Amino acid sequence: MKRGKAGKMDQIIIEELKIFAHHGVYREENEKGQDFYVNAILETDTRSAGILDDLSLSTNYGEVCVFIDSFLREHTYKLIETAAERTAEALLMRFPFVRCVTLEVRKPEAPIPLPFASVSVKIVRGWRRAYLSCGSNMGDRKAHLDGAVEALRADAKCRVLRVSDWIETAPYGGVAQDDFLNGALMLDTLYTPQELLVKLHEIENTHKRERKLHWGPRTLDLDILLYEDCVLCTEELTIPHADMHNREFVLRPLAQIAPYERHTLTGKSVLQMCEELAAVTPSP
Ligand code: ADP
Ligand code: MG
Repeated sequence: MKRGKAGKMDQIIIEELKIFAHHGVYREENEKGQDFYVNAILETDTRSAGILDDLSLSTNYGEVCVFIDSFLREHTYKLIETAAERTAEALLMRFPFVRCVTLEVRKPEAPIPLPFASVSVKIVRGWRRAYLSCGSNMGDRKAHLDGAVEALRADAKCRVLRVSDWIETAPYGGVAQDDFLNGALMLDTLYTPQELLVKLHEIENTHKRERKLHWGPRTLDLDILLYEDCVLCTEELTIPHADMHNREFVLRPLAQIAPYERHTLTGKSVLQMCEELAAVTPSP
């Protein structure tokens, strides 16, 4: 599937889909129900479907409307924020060609004690491309790395697209320890960077990762290298990964799966970073 920048893709647009549902903070709203209206912009690539006049290559907007209608009637949320959030997520998981969705849930009969035309919540959600590195140097190293891939594959909010070879590397950071097995993954995810980090920590924990020694031995280490065009530096999370350009064990597997992907800050391709690192690293 081709990946377009959000906002630059083709769009399938659904306007003012009317749905009778029961969302609301007040019990009366949950009991009586009211009309809601949904606007949706699905970002997708319609080129092949358009050229070949073949619906199987596109997203059936009829099916999308029926899906939104059933979803919003089958669930009852207090907030239209939640109604929008859950519907957008369900849509993105259900329709594989849809990369991104702008979803507006409008509630013209909302309980507001003043004259008003309408009130709505509008959100933009989509699949985001991320690159991860993984490493292990304790126990059955291959099983730990394979287990991490399995755990990500089992998560409906992640789509693992490419996995590098697992490569043997010498430890980094000056702590005497066994050799590592390292790799890199490409995935699309519905998680935000922070949520993805929580997910990775959960996976590390199921592999009995204990954070004893910085740069010390570990059953499983999962790091976020790149996340879409995100630049972020908080106490828990730095993206792009602060040290990726200095780590041969990160760049070598990453170059196998994404040689031309670029570092969000420096603009250098993975291959270029590999070459520059090799030039300053004395050969063993
Ligand atoms: P390291 O990966 O540097 O060997 P740890 O796995 O113990 O060390 O990570 C320590 C902390 O680094 C994590 O708890 C996390 O909050 C933080 N961190 C900052 N940026 C990232 C990132 N891009 N990916 C993963 N963890 C990160
Ligand atoms: Mg880590």
